Amino acid sequence: MALDVAFDEGTTMATTYLSLGSNVGDRVEYLRRALAKLEKHPHMAIKAVSSFYETEPLEYPDQEWFVNAVAEIDTTLDPMSLLDVLQGIENELQRQRSIRWGPRTIDLDILYYDDELVAESRLMIPHIRMHDRSFVLVPLAEIAPEVCHPVLGLTSRQLLEQLKQATAVRPLTIAS
Ligand code: ATP
Ligand code: MG
Ligand code: MG
Repeated sequence: MALDVAFDEGTTMATTYLSLGSNVGDRVEYLRRALAKLEKHPHMAIKAVSSFYETEPLEYPDQEWFVNAVAEIDTTLDPMSLLDVLQGIENELQRQRSIRWGPRTIDLDILYYDDELVAESRLMIPHIRMHDRSFVLVPLAEIAPEVCHPVLGLTSRQLLEQLKQATAVRPLTIAS
């Protein structure tokens, strides 16, 4: 039986914001399955999930539109263990890694982990491209408008306002 230690006294808890994205198959279902796996994890508790948005591909345009969302999660995992869990979930959901920024069933990225800065070869926090991405900033500003980027010192709302080239982001019409 999984032991729920997420809120034990004395355990350090962090608030993290994750970006979720899918553009293969049933995109909404992949996001839902990923959220269900995150929710089931004994060291994570989902505090908020944004609406689901349909978004235009940015870095590699010749592919399907994405469905994107952002989740706020409390966790007792350290950043590297969190990344391991996210990559495990990506693998369980048959993520293939062929084309950089290409089609994927699910992408789970860490945007923020409290105010911590991580600069390792396999993990950069804050996510290094998040402030250029409308598909990240729109859902983030929906659930965390006043949360500050720990390096740029701007809130999600301000980051969104100062975005120069924004790819299209529109609310998904079906319920999320
Ligand atoms: P992008 O990072 O531009 O959104 P991507 O999400 O498509 O691209 P992936 O193939 O999912 O890229 O991941 C490539 C590598 O990025 C991963 O193996 C992981 O080690 C690394 N990485 C660095 N920082 C982060 C982060 N904050 N969240 C998730 N992965 C990260
Ligand atoms: Mg990504
Ligand atoms: Mg990724």
